[in-house]
Amino acid sequence: MEQYCIYLRKSRADDEAEQRGEGETLARHEKALLSLANSQHLTIGQIYREIVSGETLAARPVMQQLLADVEKGLWQGVIVMEVERLARGNTLDQGIVANAFKYSSTLIVTPTKTYDPNNEFDEEYFEFGLFMSRREYKTINRRMQQGRQASVSEGKYCGSIPPFGYTRKKIQGEKGYTLAIVPEEAEIVKMMYELYAYGDRAEDGTYKAVGRNTIARHLNKIGIKNRKGGAWATSSVTRMLQNPVYMGKLTWDYRKTIKRTENGKVIPYRPINKNPLIYDGLHEAIVSEELWHLVADKIKNNRPSVIPDFGTMKNPLASIVRCALCQNAMQRRPYEKTGQPASMICNTHGCPNISAPLYAVEARLMEALEHWVEEYKVSLKNPKSNTQSQKQVIATTVEALQKEISNLHTQLDNTFDLLEQGIYTTEIFTKRNQTLTQKISEKKEKLHDLIDKSELIKKQEHQNITLIPKIEYLLDVYYKLSPAEQNKLLREVVDHADYKKTINGRWHSSPDSFELLVYPKITKDF
Ligand SMILES: [Zn+2]
Repeated sequence: MEQYCIYLRKSRADDEAEQRGEGETLARHEKALLSLANSQHLTIGQIYREIVSGETLAARPVMQQLLADVEKGLWQGVIVMEVERLARGNTLDQGIVANAFKYSSTLIVTPTKTYDPNNEFDEEYFEFGLFMSRREYKTINRRMQQGRQASVSEGKYCGSIPPFGYTRKKIQGEKGYTLAIVPEEAEIVKMMYELYAYGDRAEDGTYKAVGRNTIARHLNKIGIKNRKGGAWATSSVTRMLQNPVYMGKLTWDYRKTIKRTENGKVIPYRPINKNPLIYDGLHEAIVSEELWHLVADKIKNNRPSVIPDFGTMKNPLASIVRCALCQNAMQRRPYEKTGQPASMICNTHGCPNISAPLYAVEARLMEALEHWVEEYKVSLKNPKSNTQSQKQVIATTVEALQKEISNLHTQLDNTFDLLEQGIYTTEIFTKRNQTLTQKISEKKEKLHDLIDKSELIKKQEHQNITLIPKIEYLLDVYYKLSPAEQNKLLREVVDHADYKKTINGRWHSSPDSFELLVYPKITKDF
């Protein structure tokens, strides 16, 4: 959860005002800033109170503590009455303060404006230069950005919060930071990539495909928290699986902040840049580049990425027909010397599955597909199908969640009223405020997951429907194609088929006395 803090400090003018009897300044400011936080729905994690009114950093111990925390990236933003409350000493002090906020991307929130120290377009931010001219500020900011990019190009890590799996480490004898592996977290990262790329291995040796949603649920089930200490959501798993940092790379402008206007308000958002600059990091990779790209492709296509070598292929059923007894792929066995037709066999040592002619298995497969298409067409017309009821359940849940979120927002507003009426102390208010914000963000994550899921259902529904013309086309052209082309088309529509034959057909029955269970590539996984 993203938290903010409040920094309170008296100025010399405040001291004079108090002597004139204008009341306690810090308490007044505290109230004003809590009100500000409330109106912007910001969660307050801590209030820093500077009792002494020293002008230099050295004379302001609480400010030093705040700066140390800002540098650690502890806060999303610091809320103050005016930017000048942070630094009004000498140039050196101002530089230290400015750098701390810039390098940790910490926002400065004031009653009049919110400053993003890293947004070079945020021209108003020049005010933080306090006495710098606008042009000076722009030049410095550009140099800063260039400096950051230079650091990234040298492989240094410039972010304030290390990605899951790593910790930030100062580079020996040089400026800047790199990342060091946290072994127990790295294991989890690796597991996530491998699960998504290869699936989960069952006891019988088969692999079951694992989706991002399942990975998130699995992590939550085994009690692993994400970087922010919260529960995993599909979206956070996706972000991790797409982060090039895990193959030892660093990117520049991977998620550049872009501003857009909505209802007259400027809203920054950070889309993934499709063509970021990519540099080799100084840090050690957790997964290989091959694995990373395998996962990236799989996310992009949302389909299996293992593609056989088509050039030399002779078996049209390669990677499609499995032995129902041992789950291994059935092989094509040619009999070039005798001129007999090729057969499908299970090569597993000791497996009792008996072979059958390849052409017979192919014919059965075609027959099964034809039958399946007919049945599927009928089932699509049934309004009581699984998909339709799933969609209904999701729609109802989304509605309920939206209602809950809006209720929580109302409660959040009430906490401030209670504070103003003096029923809540600042401490109770802060605690209550945190709990509610936490709840809201959890509900929002759930809501996003559901929306993702309904998108997925729509997509899968579409995919399933397009399966019909694909299979019909395949049935039309199958026997006119090369084995490689046959295999390619089959793989698009058939997930796999299980083959079983336990009675030797040569003596007891016809050559096609085998069982073939065909699984079309239909997605019902929601
Ligand atoms: Zn077998």
